[in-house]
Parts: sequence; structure tokens; C-alpha cells
Amino acid sequence: MSDSHLPTGAWPDLQPGWVWLCGAGPGDPGLLTLHALNGLKQADVIVYDALVQKPILDWARPDAELIYAGKRGGKPSALQKDISLHLVELAKAGRRVLRLKGGDPFVFGRGGEEAQTLVQHGVPIRIIPGISAGIGGLAYAGIPVTHRDVNQAVTFVTGHDQSGQTPASLDWGAIARGSQVIVIYMGMKHIARISEALLEAGRDPSEPVAVVANATTPRQQVLETTLGRCAADIAASDFTPPAIICVGRAALLRQALDWQALADGAAPRDVDPLERGKPAEER
Ligand code: SAH
Repeated sequence: MSDSHLPTGAWPDLQPGWVWLCGAGPGDPGLLTLHALNGLKQADVIVYDALVQKPILDWARPDAELIYAGKRGGKPSALQKDISLHLVELAKAGRRVLRLKGGDPFVFGRGGEEAQTLVQHGVPIRIIPGISAGIGGLAYAGIPVTHRDVNQAVTFVTGHDQSGQTPASLDWGAIARGSQVIVIYMGMKHIARISEALLEAGRDPSEPVAVVANATTPRQQVLETTLGRCAADIAASDFTPPAIICVGRAALLRQALDWQALADGAAPRDVDPLERGKPAEER
């Protein structure tokens, strides 16, 4: 395939009857992969979810059919089956289908379920990973999910289970003990219960927490708080989902690495927020 927007090379064809299950990244269109762009430019039909930002769809063919399959915040998942079967139907009708999902399709995105249904119905698929909000969204806020001075592990958790409740099945004690940095997806609704569980498990109330709403979009907002105060601060804020919550000292690095503020001419608030004297590289 040759196209002015793609570097020259042999790009795969999205063939009739195929579904490409594709991540759209957290919002900023520049965070799309080239495979995603290649799919967007070829698809006859694009089935996209609520977290896919509109400018990304501008790369679709002008005659492509755009189907919204959004589901937000803990609603019953009966629809999921319909979406998966709709994809099967479109593929069986010989269409070239791009299933576009926010972030990475396999990270809290039910991409695995959709892929499974497609495979069970004999539909050929390609999986195109994307930048997940829990990594890329935090990076846009100046927060590295791992840092040698902070953590050797990071845990990604969801604040909802299938019923829309806090995941009762999660062992918050083990998570609190096992991972210095905890990144919570879909955590806004149940942050009071989640932060309480982490505190009960021994995490420090003064531990830094960052909340990044609408990360990587022009509407990005960041709240810096602590584990003890985060539930109240979120409740008092005007932040609305989607938001990613980062618990742990990694959040402090934003004081040095808020690169968007730096680009706007601000001085770093603190070049050494972890108080290590020198960057890890120079020690
Ligand atoms: N597959 C997606 C996650 C889907 S679950 C991914 O890999 O990113 C939906 C949750 O993702 C939201 O509730 C929020 O916690 C997070 N999220 C997705 N996009 C986001 C964004 N632009 N800003 C902040 N959080 C986001």
C-alpha cells in the first residue's frame, strides 16, 4: 500500500472479511501507531468506542461507515456480546473492518473477548496494540511508571469489576505490599473504598497520588494529592472520567518532569523531587 501519510514500505492490506482489532492510544492522535493509521485509511467500516477521540476518525476514508459502539462506566455488559457479534456479521458480509478501541485493546478493553468471539466464528483477525492510558497518559503528566529510585514493579488494576462494583476479588493487601506504584484504571467512582483499602493494608496517607483526567487530550487535567486526601480532593474537583490514578512516589517526578508546563516556559518546581542529590544515571 502506498500512502502519503505512511512511510514508504510494504504495509499490510486490510482484506475483505478481516477484522483488525486496534488500539487508538489514549487520545492525542500522534500516539496512534502506523499500523492503526494504515487500518484507518483502508477500512470500509470502523467500529469505535467512547474513548476514541474524534480527530482520529478524520483519517478514515471519506466513504467509510463509522459505527459508534460506546459503553461507559460500569453499565451492564450485555451489549458486549452484541458488539462482538456485530463485528462477526460485518466481516462475514465481506467488509474490511477496523475495530478501534481507546488505549490498548488488550488492557481493560475487552479486546480479548472480542478477539475470541471472532476466532470462534472463523473470522481472520490482526491485533494492533496501542499506547495504554496507564503508561502514556501518565507520561503526558510527567510521571514515569517505573523509575529506578522508586519501583521495581508496577501494578495495573481496574476500579470496576464486571458488575460495576469495586473488584471485591482483588487482594488489596497483597497489591499494597507488592507494588510501590499502583496504576488504577476506572477508579474514580470507587476511589474512597480503594484508598481506604490501601491505607488499611499499611500504605502511608502522605503517599503521593496523581489523577490525570482526559490525558493526552487538549482537556488534560492533573490533580496532585495524597493517598489520605485523594478521595476528598477528587470529590471536590471538577474532574470527570476518563481518569487514570497513580499511587506512589513516581507521581512526585511530575514536579520535575511536567514537560508540557516546561514547554510553556515554566521553571521546574523541583529538579530533585525524590531528594537523591543526583539523577540515578550519575550515581
Ligand atoms: N484500553 C484502555 C483502557 C480502557 S478502560 C487503555 O489501554 O488505556 C477505561 C479507563 O482507561 C478509563 O476509565 C480511564 O481510567 C482510562 N483511560 C483511558 N483513556 C484515558 C485518558 N485519555 N485519560 C485518562 N484515563 C484514561
